[in-house]
Amino acid sequence: MREGLDVLEAQQLILDETPVLDRETVATRDALGRVLASPVESARTLPPADCSAMDGYAVRVADLAGATGAAPRDLEVVYEVAAGHTGERPLAPGEAARIFTGAPVPEGADTVVRQEDTEAADGSVRVFVDPPVREHIRDAGEDVRQGEEVLAAGHVIRAPEIGLLASLGRSVVEVHQRPRVAILSGGDELVEPDGDVAGGRIVSSNSYTLSAQCLDAGAEPVYLGIARDRPEELERYLRAGIRADCIVTSAGVSVGDHDYVRPVLESLGCELHFWGVKMKPGFPVAFGSFSGPRGPLVFGLPGNPVSASVTFEQFVRPALRKMTGHAARFRATILARIDHAMTKKPGRLHFVRVRLRREGDEWVASTTGNQSSGVLRSLTQAHGLLVFPAAAEALRPGDSVRVQLLDDGFLASETAGLDELPTPA
Ligand code: AMP
Ligand code: MG
Repeated sequence: MREGLDVLEAQQLILDETPVLDRETVATRDALGRVLASPVESARTLPPADCSAMDGYAVRVADLAGATGAAPRDLEVVYEVAAGHTGERPLAPGEAARIFTGAPVPEGADTVVRQEDTEAADGSVRVFVDPPVREHIRDAGEDVRQGEEVLAAGHVIRAPEIGLLASLGRSVVEVHQRPRVAILSGGDELVEPDGDVAGGRIVSSNSYTLSAQCLDAGAEPVYLGIARDRPEELERYLRAGIRADCIVTSAGVSVGDHDYVRPVLESLGCELHFWGVKMKPGFPVAFGSFSGPRGPLVFGLPGNPVSASVTFEQFVRPALRKMTGHAARFRATILARIDHAMTKKPGRLHFVRVRLRREGDEWVASTTGNQSSGVLRSLTQAHGLLVFPAAAEALRPGDSVRVQLLDDGFLASETAGLDELPTPA
């Protein structure tokens, strides 16, 4: 087992040990956010035939040469085609078909004139325009051609993909499985939110935070409960998690007298790959795996609420994203200017909770205040985590820094941005 890794080394080692989960078939309507396990080829052409984009008349261009408002042409209306129906027979010269949006253009017709450019009479139509060929016609296959690969393996399914799959006749789709993550808290001081906090007890908030982070990463949390600081109890709980894809524990992973996570994991046959990452918050992180085809990965996260959450972000989330088939496993980052000075000792990478604001063309980052690893509230105020590199000792006001965006929701706007469009010259 290695000790005291850099953040980057630890992330790499974890991803190397992390499998992409097998495929499963799910209903297309439930596939939002899932990742395609195999490419989707279309068995259909969409639209299946040339069809009208307007309500109007399917006509032959040759019949309307030179037609104008002053010199209209009259055509005989021989039938009607509504969406979902087909024309009865090919159109002959001098004939028109009444047609509606989405209806297939009958044989013989080579353009569609809009209803607004005509005047209907009994059994005929007066046309006031000389249209170009194929006006207001959606070409067969302009959306999708039969046999074409429309979505690649690894594509993330959003709302339009769900609609496209449905229109291709796919009511089910093959995606990567969502990892099941067993979540365990440990400590004699911990109670559930409705428990009694007299005598120095605290609520096990980590199980709540970490479960939500699992959901946010596309995984399925399974809460195991709170294990007391006794090896037998910890072992019983950990055994219950062995069938999951991942076990995430918090607390009890440091070097204190009551920190049993590491020895108990090893006694259960878990191979520990590393302990300790040169970062703050969150030095005491352990990572291991159970061997076997589906032995879970194990993340022993620190107990302090901010440390647990930040180490989940750096180590567990990327692994869960890989398991679910995502190629992009990390949060978006932006460059920002810090608006105050910060100092630290070299050696550990600091993740600083910051708020971001826009100033002109730049993002400006400022600390949320007290960076203690127990101050969970400051994470609720943070837009992101500023990366204060391990080797650096000082940041000066105006320095350029990288910020991991914890939630890009803050980029959402109260307006549609239509008033901010640059005026064309
Ligand atoms: P430990 O790693 O057991 O020394 O815990 C470090 C700190 O994190 C202690 O102050 C614990 O009370 C706190 N802590 C441990 N587990 C949790 C939890 N599940 N929720 C909130 N705080 C916790
Ligand atoms: Mg403890």
